[in-house]
Amino acid sequence: MNDQALRSLVRRRAGDLCEYCRLPQWSSPYVRFHIEHIIALQHGGPSDADNLALACGNCNYHKGPNISSIDPKTGQLTPLFNPRHEHWCDHFVWQGIVIIGQTPIGRATVRLLGMNDWQRIELRENLQALGEQFAG
Ligand SMILES: [Zn+2]
Repeated sequence: MNDQALRSLVRRRAGDLCEYCRLPQWSSPYVRFHIEHIIALQHGGPSDADNLALACGNCNYHKGPNISSIDPKTGQLTPLFNPRHEHWCDHFVWQGIVIIGQTPIGRATVRLLGMNDWQRIELRENLQALGEQFAG
């Protein structure tokens, strides 16, 4: 599969939503979401479909090459959410427009990726006013 076909597959598979914070691509018309390596290249992660995810700029900048973080509840080292191997709903839940981590993986990922930074809450408020639903 060539690079363009692979990128297209990742975008289509994600339904044009950030696979971490569920932000829709249409909310960011001038900046395309990133095709990111779930396991970063520097950790040996391959550039194949099983290791790629669609991520908004905010999630990707915060995630960087990280593959784990600390669960803020237990202080334990925990892997980050892997959208290829896990279901979003098993780790996160919407509370209004706030994303709540339900598991160690969910909590560590919400915190590291800054999923509820005020700018992102403000953006979700604006999107909600335009009719975007945040659920599931
Ligand atoms: Zn995101």
